[in-house]
Amino acid sequence: MSNEKLRSEALAYHAKPQPGKIKIVPTKPYATQRDLGLAYSPGVAEPCLEIHKNKDDVYKYTAKGNLVAVITNGTAVLGLGDIGPEASKPVMEGKCLLFKIFADIDSIDIELDTKDIDKFIETVKIMAPTFGGINLEDIKAPEAFEIERRLKEELDIPVMHDDQHGTAIISAAALLNALEITKKKIEEVRIVISGAGAAAVSCTKLYKAFGASAKNIVMLDSKGVIRSDRENLSAEKLEFATDRKIDTLEEAMVDADVFIGLSVADVVNPAMLLAMAKDPIVFAMANPDPEIAYDLAVSTRKDIIMATGRSDHPNQVNNVLGFPFIFRGALDVRATKINEEMKMAAVKALADLTREAVPEQVNIAYGETRLTFGRDYIIPKPFDPRLISSIPPAVAKAAMESGVAKMPIEDWDKYREELLQ
Ligand code: NAP
Ligand code: MG
Repeated sequence: MSNEKLRSEALAYHAKPQPGKIKIVPTKPYATQRDLGLAYSPGVAEPCLEIHKNKDDVYKYTAKGNLVAVITNGTAVLGLGDIGPEASKPVMEGKCLLFKIFADIDSIDIELDTKDIDKFIETVKIMAPTFGGINLEDIKAPEAFEIERRLKEELDIPVMHDDQHGTAIISAAALLNALEITKKKIEEVRIVISGAGAAAVSCTKLYKAFGASAKNIVMLDSKGVIRSDRENLSAEKLEFATDRKIDTLEEAMVDADVFIGLSVADVVNPAMLLAMAKDPIVFAMANPDPEIAYDLAVSTRKDIIMATGRSDHPNQVNNVLGFPFIFRGALDVRATKINEEMKMAAVKALADLTREAVPEQVNIAYGETRLTFGRDYIIPKPFDPRLISSIPPAVAKAAMESGVAKMPIEDWDKYREELLQ
C-alpha cells in the first residue's frame, strides 16, 4: 500500500461512521420502568450499601473487575515522540480495541495533561477505585520507571507499563526459542543490546532473570558502549555497564551470539553481522525501521535467526501477544500485582506454545502453508486462538503460587472453557 493510500484509509477508518474506535454499551436489561428502577434509583442503592459494608463487593456488583485503564501522558507515543495527550488518543483507543477483541477485557483510555511525575501518580491513585487494572502506555523514560515503580508499590490492583514489559516478555519467549533452535545456552551467550531506554532496560532485566549473565552483556546508548568507567550514568544504565574496554557497536558485535535492537534504524551493517558468532540471533526491533533491514540481514547470513517489530516479515515481536492475556490472567485471580513470576510464566507459556503443532486456521489466517517451530517461526502469531486458553492460566497460576492472587482458581478445566467462550 502506498503511503498516501494508507494515510487516507487510516483517517477514514478513524473518522467514519462515527469518530474513534470504542464505545460503551450496557450489559443489563433497560427496556422497562422496572429495569430502570433496578439499574438506577431506587434499586441501585442496594449494591451501594453492600459495597459500603464490604469494599471487595465492588467486584461482585460493578464492572471494576474486568475494567482496565489505558493511561498515558502522550510523551513517548509509538516512534512519534512527545506529541501530547490528545494526539496520543488514537493509540490508546487502539489498545482498548485490542484488549477487547483478544481477551474480552473492557478498557478505557485516559490521557493526562501532565509531565509532572508526582501529579501523574497522584491522579492515577485517585482514580484507581474505578479499575481492575492499570496499563501504563507510551510514557517517556526515565519518568516511566518511577511512575510504574511507585504505582505498583502504592496500589493493590495490577499495574503494568506495557512498553517495558510487553516487549520484554515477547522477546524473551522468542529468545528462548531461538536459543533452543541453535542449541545455545542463555547462561553462556554473548548479548549485545543496542538502546538503553524503557524497552531495552526491561528486556535485559528479564533475560537476566532467565539466566543471561551480566558479564556477557554489552549495552549501548546514543553515546556508544555503556562502560562502567563512564561518568554520570543513570542507575538503570549503571546496572548494565560493562568492564570491557570497548566503545563501539562494531567492537561489541565481534563473536556476539545475540543482538537485541531497541534503538534506532540502520545502526547495524553487514560487516557487523558477519563478525557475529555462528547462528547469530538478531532481534532488530526499532519501529518502524529496524536496526538492519530484514532482507539485507537474511541475505548477509544464511545461518541467522531474525526477528523485527514488523508484520511484513516472519517473527514479529508484537506486544499484542502479551498484554491482553497477561491482564486476563491477573484479573481472573484478582491479582494485586503483575510480578516477575507472572511475567516469566507468560514467557514460558508463549515459548512452549510456539513449539506445538500450529492449527490450520492460523496457517489460513496468515496465508501460510505450514507454520512449524523453526528459524522463521520462533513466536506465535497474534490470531492464534490457543493464546487465550494457554497464557492466562499460566499467568493466573503464577499469581497464585507467588501469593498475589486474592481469588484463586479452583477448577482449571472450567476456567479454560470459560476463556474460550
Ligand atoms: P526510549 O526509551 O526513547 O529509548 C531509546 C534508546 O535508544 C535510548 O537509550 C537512546 O540512547 C538509544 N539510542 C538512540 N540512538 C542510538 C544509537 N545510534 N545507538 C544505540 N542506541 C541509541 O525508547 P524505547 O521505548 O525504549 O524504544 C526504543 C526503540 O524500540 C524504538 O524504536 C521503538 O519503536 C522500539 N520498540 C519496539 C518494540 C517492538 O518491536 N515490539 C517494542 C518497544 C519498543 P540515550 O539513552 O543515550 O538517549
Ligand atoms: Mg506503547
